[in-house]
Amino acid sequence: MTFDALTRDQLQALHDDQQAKYDALKAAGLTLDLTRGKPSPEQLDLSSDLLTLPGPDFKDSKGIDTRNYGGIEGLTELRAIFAEILHLPVEQVVAGDNASLAMMHDSLVFALLRGTPDSPRPWVEEDEVTFICPVPGYDRHFALTEQYGIRMAPVEMRPDGPDMTAVRELAADPSVKGMWLVPTYSNPTGAVVSEAVAAELAAMETAAPDFRIFWDNAYAVHHLTEQRTKTPDIAGLSAASGHPNRPILFASTSKITFAGSGVCFLGSSEENVAWYLRLLGKRTIGPDKLNHLRHARHLRDLDGVLDLMDRHRAILAPKFAAVLEILEDRLGGHGVATWSEPKGGYFVSLDVVDGTASRVVELCKEAGIALTPAGSSFPHGQDPRDRNIRIAPSFPSIDDLRAAMDGLATCVLLAAAEKQLA
Ligand code: PLP
Repeated sequence: MTFDALTRDQLQALHDDQQAKYDALKAAGLTLDLTRGKPSPEQLDLSSDLLTLPGPDFKDSKGIDTRNYGGIEGLTELRAIFAEILHLPVEQVVAGDNASLAMMHDSLVFALLRGTPDSPRPWVEEDEVTFICPVPGYDRHFALTEQYGIRMAPVEMRPDGPDMTAVRELAADPSVKGMWLVPTYSNPTGAVVSEAVAAELAAMETAAPDFRIFWDNAYAVHHLTEQRTKTPDIAGLSAASGHPNRPILFASTSKITFAGSGVCFLGSSEENVAWYLRLLGKRTIGPDKLNHLRHARHLRDLDGVLDLMDRHRAILAPKFAAVLEILEDRLGGHGVATWSEPKGGYFVSLDVVDGTASRVVELCKEAGIALTPAGSSFPHGQDPRDRNIRIAPSFPSIDDLRAAMDGLATCVLLAAAEKQLA
């Protein structure tokens, strides 16, 4: 029965029952963590070949000694694999070091300090710079724009992409210079940008001539089902609409090989790539090409990536299934929560009763279950409805995950009952 349909006595009984469960949970002295979307040790083991690669042959297919300086754009054979994933010619893809977040940071800072190829002036010289932020979204995107004083305009992230009416309205303001977007299996809802929404994003009018979509395809091949969802070809769509420089695409092997020692990629128009490399060339003499070679030999080609991702799926899918099963068992039918059922990516997004997410996170913390702070998925950490909680099922063992989810469900029910009784 939904909470709304309960009498006060029934609600009190339910509250007391959850309170007893919660007291037992606290007494159990758990230490569980559902915070960051990190691969588990078993997933990292899938790429342990990297620890012995590239072996004594350290030259790439062109005979370049990967131990030495140079080659700012990265190793061609590895870029070729991600060029296919990003739907771009290999010349328009750069392979960097271990974090696509660093490439996003640099792109933003280059635009701020030097302007993009289409900017009338560096962004710092504008009175105000605004980024459209689909919410809930990735906390580290928002932390970056916040750090550089960029105003953030939230728009709703729907199952097929951002609310385009809101996006079009905002883009009519010349201070709006760009937007964050995770097109496939978005963090945290698992939303997938449809072809139609991508085509609109590519074609829409923007008041700023240098509007940029930071198209962060962190989960491009991170399927949780047999269906390999295809990301729309935003670069092709934008070029066809006369806005070739609009999207900058990002990806990485952080959740394909090693999260801390993978390779990241940036792809865009020829002009944007030349701009990025020109500015990057002052920052570094070249990336870690030895790691590129290791990765090229380990992954081999796109089929190699997809095979590896199938093995990740075999580890991850049961964890996501456990999360959804426990949510349904414990919370289904009570009208106190809704949650995403992602077909890929790293997160489940849980919406609890408005005004109770912070309380749920606090209750969990006191019971030894760590969750990301409520509001993390919103600009400035402020969820206007205080209802969203991001669940990261990848890292814990399945037994720990089950225990944490059961505890979380108790906290959701207890907080909801507290609120209804107040
Ligand atoms: N982008 C999104 C949407 C993410 O969720 C994450 C990690 O959680 C990253 C980027 C980080 O990627 P990288 O390790 O390549 O910096």
